[in-house]
Amino acid sequence: MVELNLKSVVKRYGNVQVVHGIDLNISSGEFCVFVGPSGCGKSTLLRMIAGLEAISDGTIEIDGQVVNDIPAANRGLAMVFQSYALYPHMSVKENLSFGLENLRMDRAEIEERVGAAAKMLQIDQLLDRRPGQLSGGQRQRVAIGRTVVREPKVFLFDEPLSNLDAELRVAMRGEIAALHKRLGNTMVYVTHDQVEAMTMADKIAVLRAGQVEQYGAPLELYNRPANKFVAGFIGSPRMNFVVGQVQGVDNDSIRVEIAGHQLSLDASSFASVSQGQDVVLGVRPNQLSVSEDGFIDLHITAVEQLGGESYLFGTSSAKLLDDDTLRVQIPGQTRHAPGQQVKLGATQTDIHLFDADGLSLRL
Ligand code: ADP
Repeated sequence: MVELNLKSVVKRYGNVQVVHGIDLNISSGEFCVFVGPSGCGKSTLLRMIAGLEAISDGTIEIDGQVVNDIPAANRGLAMVFQSYALYPHMSVKENLSFGLENLRMDRAEIEERVGAAAKMLQIDQLLDRRPGQLSGGQRQRVAIGRTVVREPKVFLFDEPLSNLDAELRVAMRGEIAALHKRLGNTMVYVTHDQVEAMTMADKIAVLRAGQVEQYGAPLELYNRPANKFVAGFIGSPRMNFVVGQVQGVDNDSIRVEIAGHQLSLDASSFASVSQGQDVVLGVRPNQLSVSEDGFIDLHITAVEQLGGESYLFGTSSAKLLDDDTLRVQIPGQTRHAPGQQVKLGATQTDIHLFDADGLSLRL
C-alpha cells in the first residue's frame, strides 16, 4: 500500500508560477480526484507526481521516499492518458505486453499478466485486433490494461474519459471505480467534470489557479464547502448566490436582509458576523422550494420539465451575484409557467453564508 505526500509543491514555467505551494496527503489505497476548471494546474500536478515534469520547489514523496530526482520509469507509477497513446501498428495483445517485454520479464509471466488483465477488462476477445479496429471504450480499456499489467504502486489517470461519448463515459466511470475496488491501489485521477469527481472519488482536491481550495470526501465538499468557489463548482445545477446584509445579531440569531425580506438564521451555526456586514447567501437549486413565506421572490422566465424533475429559472428583486439567473429544481412535474411570480424558501440547514472574501461562515 502506498501513500503520496506533496509538500509545498511549486511549478514555474520561466517567470510564471502555475502551481503555488500545494500540500496534499493522499492516503494509501485512496481514489483521489483532482478537479477544477481548465488551466488550474491539475495535469501539471499529476505530471509532477508521475515524474514527467520537474518540480520547481517542494517535495513529492511516494511511500515515504522523496522522488524529486527519481526518473518517471523508476517511480512505480503507471499513467493512463486522455489520448490512449496506443501503438496503432500493434495488436491489443502486443500493446499490453510491450512494456513488460521492455523490462525483459519472463515470457510466461507476461502471458499470465496480459491474460488476467484482458479478462478483468473484458478485452480478452479482442487480443488480435489493432487499435483502429476498436471502439473508443475498448481502446480506453486497452490503455488501462497496459497500466494494469505493470502492477504499479500507483495509478495516475489524466482525463481518461474526455474523448468518449456521454453514455460510454458513465459506463467507464463505473468500470474504473470497480477496478479500484478490486485492486485496492492508490489512484489519482484528473478531471474537469465535477460529476466524475463526485461519483468516483474517495477524496476530491478542488483546484483553482494552482492552489487547492478544499480537500475532502465528496459529500463533505457538497455539504460543507469551505468557500464560495467550491460551493459553486461542486453540485449541479450550480448553487445560487444571493447578496444580503446583516441587519442585526444577538445571542440566538443573525438577521439577514435580502431585498427587503428578513431572514433569521440560527447564530450557533455560523461564525460571528457584525451588523451592517455584507454577506452572500448560498442555496442549491434543489434546496429551494416554492413557499408562501419564502424569503426570495422569483419572477419565472423559463420552465424546463424533464419528467422526473423540473427546473424554474428567473429573475428576482434580490441581487444575484454576477447577475446570474435564479435556478430552482423541483422534484417531479410542475404547473408553474413563465410569467408567474412566486416566493422561495429553504430550510435553515441548507443555507450557506459567505463573507465578502467568499469564505464560508458556517461552523
Ligand atoms: P489543467 O490540467 O488544470 O487544465 P494545466 O496543468 O494543463 O491545467 O496548466 C496549468 C497552467 O500552466 C496553465 O495556465 C497553462 O497554460 C500553464 N502551462 C502548462 N504547461 C505549460 C508549459 N509547458 N509552459 C508554460 N505554461 C504552461
